Amino acid sequence: MHFATTFKPQNYDLYFDLDRQQKHFFGKTTITGLALTETVWLHQKKLQITEVLVNGQPHAFDLDETKDALYLELGFTGKVTLEITYTAKLTDTMMGIYPSYYELAGQKKQLIGTQFETDAAREAFVCVDEPDAKATFDLAIKFDEQPGEQVLSNMPEKSVSAGVHYFETTPKMSTYLVCFVLGELQSKTTTTASGIKVGVFSTKAHQPKELDFALDIAKRALDFFEDYYQTPYPLPHSWQVALPDFSAGAMENWGIITYREAYLLLDPDNTTLETKQRVATVIAHELAHQWFGDLVTMKWWDDLWLNESFANMMEYVCIDALEPNWKIWQTFQSTEVPLALNRDALAGVQSIYTPVEDPAEIDALFDSAIVYAKGARMLVMVRALIGDTALRLGLKQYFASHAYGNATGADLWQALTQKTELDLPKIMSTWLNCSGYPVVSVKKIGNDLLLEQRQFFTDPSVTSDQLWPIPLMSNYPELPALMTQKRLILKDYTSLRQKHGSALQLNVNNNAHFIVDYSPELLGDLLKKSPQTDTLTRFSLLQALVLLAQAQVISLPQVLELAANFKNDHSQLVTRALLQLLDLLKLFVGSDTTAHDDLCTLVVSFTSILKASLSQEPASFSQLDQELIQPLLLKTELYAKVKQVVDEQLYFPPTKTDWAKLPAEIRGVALKNMLVNHNSDACFTEFFKEYQQSVDPSYKVDLRQALTSSPKVAQLTELLANFKDPAVIKPQDLRAWLEEILANPVGQKLAWAWLKQNWTWLEETVGGDMEFTTYITVIGKTLSSPELYADFNTFFEPKLAEPGLAREINLAKHAIFARVNLLKVQQSNVAQALSSLAWYQKHS
Ligand SMILES: [Zn+2]
Repeated sequence: MHFATTFKPQNYDLYFDLDRQQKHFFGKTTITGLALTETVWLHQKKLQITEVLVNGQPHAFDLDETKDALYLELGFTGKVTLEITYTAKLTDTMMGIYPSYYELAGQKKQLIGTQFETDAAREAFVCVDEPDAKATFDLAIKFDEQPGEQVLSNMPEKSVSAGVHYFETTPKMSTYLVCFVLGELQSKTTTTASGIKVGVFSTKAHQPKELDFALDIAKRALDFFEDYYQTPYPLPHSWQVALPDFSAGAMENWGIITYREAYLLLDPDNTTLETKQRVATVIAHELAHQWFGDLVTMKWWDDLWLNESFANMMEYVCIDALEPNWKIWQTFQSTEVPLALNRDALAGVQSIYTPVEDPAEIDALFDSAIVYAKGARMLVMVRALIGDTALRLGLKQYFASHAYGNATGADLWQALTQKTELDLPKIMSTWLNCSGYPVVSVKKIGNDLLLEQRQFFTDPSVTSDQLWPIPLMSNYPELPALMTQKRLILKDYTSLRQKHGSALQLNVNNNAHFIVDYSPELLGDLLKKSPQTDTLTRFSLLQALVLLAQAQVISLPQVLELAANFKNDHSQLVTRALLQLLDLLKLFVGSDTTAHDDLCTLVVSFTSILKASLSQEPASFSQLDQELIQPLLLKTELYAKVKQVVDEQLYFPPTKTDWAKLPAEIRGVALKNMLVNHNSDACFTEFFKEYQQSVDPSYKVDLRQALTSSPKVAQLTELLANFKDPAVIKPQDLRAWLEEILANPVGQKLAWAWLKQNWTWLEETVGGDMEFTTYITVIGKTLSSPELYADFNTFFEPKLAEPGLAREINLAKHAIFARVNLLKVQQSNVAQALSSLAWYQKHS
C-alpha cells in the first residue's frame, strides 16, 4: 500500500533543534493536508514520537515498525493539521541527518548534512515518504551554533530569530529532495545569465582555489540547461556543497546539491584531465536532475530511469557543449558503454525498468551499470533515432506538462513521439523491460548475407529466446531500420558491396545497445579498410571481440592476432580498448611465470611503438589524445616493469621532498612504483600517514592505490586492520579500499577473509545505505579461483533471503563462475599464444 492513498500532504512545517555533542535532535513536524481515508498512514523510522496533535487536540497513535509507519485512526476525511513531536539520534550511517567529520588546524570539527534518497526523509521527520506525495516545505533550524557557522537549504534563509534559522517556502517537491547542511563553510559564488545565484561550498580544510573549477562548470552548465530544455531553472539559487562524509557520488537535492569532496573539489594547478572530466560530468549530471527528477519526478521508484538514465545522458550532452575539445562522448564510449555491456551480459541482471516495493529493493535499483550506463545508452539510442531537435522540443513539452508534479515512462514517450513517425513506446518497451542485449551475427551464405540475433551472455552455458527490435544503424540503406525478427537475409551482398564500395557495417556510431559478431571474412573486409575506418569503429570492433572472447565465441589468441590490425591507431579511444585487452590477459598469466614475461614483452613493444609515435609525429596526435594517453602508458609500463619507469630518480629530480606536489599525471604511478618496486616499511608508513593527513581528494586516491598494491602480506594485513576505524579510513571510502586489495593477487584471499569475518559489522555500519550491495559487486568483479568461487557460494547462499541482496549475490556468482571457467578453458592457449606471438614486432 502506498501511504499517499490515505493522506495527501500539502505543506510541511519542519522544526529541528540539533545537538551535535549529544548526537541527537528534537523535531516537530506540522503537516497540513487531506485525509483521504479515515485511517491515515505516515512514514517514520527510528523516531521517538512523544506526542501527536490532530487539529490542535492530542490524539492516540500507533506504530508499525515493519512498515516504517505511524498510523492514526482519524474517523473522518478531509482537511486536517497534524502536529508530531519527537526526538531522534544523529547516527554515522551517512543516511538521514548525519555528521561529517574533518580536522581543521588539528582541531576536530563536524558539519551536519542530510541524505534522504531513497527512504531516509522518514528518519528526519514524519512524512508521506513517496516521490509523488509532493508538498511545500517550510524549514526552521536551531543548533548548537558557534560563531562563523551557517545553515544552507533548498531555499534562501529569510530570517534568524532567537537562534532559529527560518527558510523561505519551497515549491511543491518530493520529500527525498529536502536537504540542509550546517557548520563552518567557505564559499565562492557567482550569478548565471538569467540571475540565478550559484555557489560552491566546502569546509575550510581545503584551499579556496579548489572551489574555482566547480563554480565555473556549474554556472555554465546551468546556462546550458536553461537553453537546452527551454525551461527556466525553478529556484533562486543552486548550491554545490562538498561533504567530508558522503556515501554516493553526489545527490541532486533541489537547489542544494551535496557531493563527495572528490567529485566537486580539485586543485586547478595539479589535477589530471581525466579527473577534471569526471568532476565536470558529475556536476552536469546533478544539475540536469534539477529539471529531470526534481521539477518533474518519477511517479514511483520503478521509473527511476526517468531520473538517472536521463541525467546520465545529459551530463555528456552538456559537457560536450561546454568543453567541445574534450570529446567527452569518447569518454562515454570508453567508460559507460563497457560498464553496461559487461554487466548486462550476466544472467539474472535486472532490466532498466523494474517493479519494486521493498525499500531495500529500491536501493538496489541504483545500479551504475544498468539504470545509469545502460539507461543512458538507451536514451542516446533514442536521440540518434529521433534527432536532437525533436528531443529538445519533446522535453520542453514534457516539463511544461508535468512541472511540480510526477510522470511515468509513458508520459515521456508521449512527449517525444509528437515529432516522429517511429513507434517509440513499442520499441523502447522491450529495451527497458527486458534485461540483457543481443549480439547480431553476420555471415555470407552464398551470395547473400544472413543476420541473426540472439541474447548475449558472458557465460556460454546460458541461453534465451528473447528478441529485440534492433536499430541496425547500418551503412547500407537496403537493410531495414529495425530488425525485429530472429533472422534476416540481405540478398545479393556481392553486388551491394560493389555498389557501396565498403564492407557492411552495423551500429555505425556505436549508439545502439548491441554488439556484432562478423564472420571472419566480413571482419577481414572491414579491417582491410582499417586506415580509412574511423576510430570509433575500430574501438567498437575491438570491444566486441573482447566480449566475444569472454563468452568463448572466439578464442583470446584469435583476438590477440586480430588486435594487431589496430596498431596504427594511436587515439586514446583505441589505446584504451587495447589496454583493456591487456588488462584481461593479466588475469591469465599470474606473476613469476613465462607467460607473465611474455605479456610484459608484448606490453613493452606496444608502449614503445606508441611512445615513438608520440615523440616522432606529435602533430598526428591531438592535445587531448596526448594528455589522456600519457598517464595510461605509464601505468602499463609500470606493470611490465619498464626500467625508466621503475627508476625512482625519474620522478624526483633533484631531491624527493613533497609527494603531493608531483605532477598529477605521474603522481599515481610514482607512488605505486615506490611500494611495488622499492618497498620499505618506512615508505609504507609514510604513505599511510600522508593518507590520513591529506585533504586533497585526488592525492588521497593516488596514495590509496599505491598502498593497496603493496606486494607484502604484512602491510596489506595492517591496512585491513584499520578498516573499521573511521578516523583512519572513512566508511565512504571503504569499498574502494576493499576492491583494490581484492584485485591485488597477494591481497585477494586476505581481503576476502576480512569481508567474511566482518560482514555483520559492515551490514550494521553501511547496511542501510543505498550503495551497500556494491560490496558484493566488487567481490564478483575480482574473485578468480575455483576455491574462492566455492567459498563465495558457501558464505552467501544463506544470505539469499535477505531483502535486496539476492540479485546481487546471483550476479556475482555468475561473474565469478564465468571468469573461473574462462581461465580454465583458455589459460594454456593464452600462454601458448603469448609465447609464439611476437605481436607488434611481427606485424609492424
Ligand atoms: Zn543521478
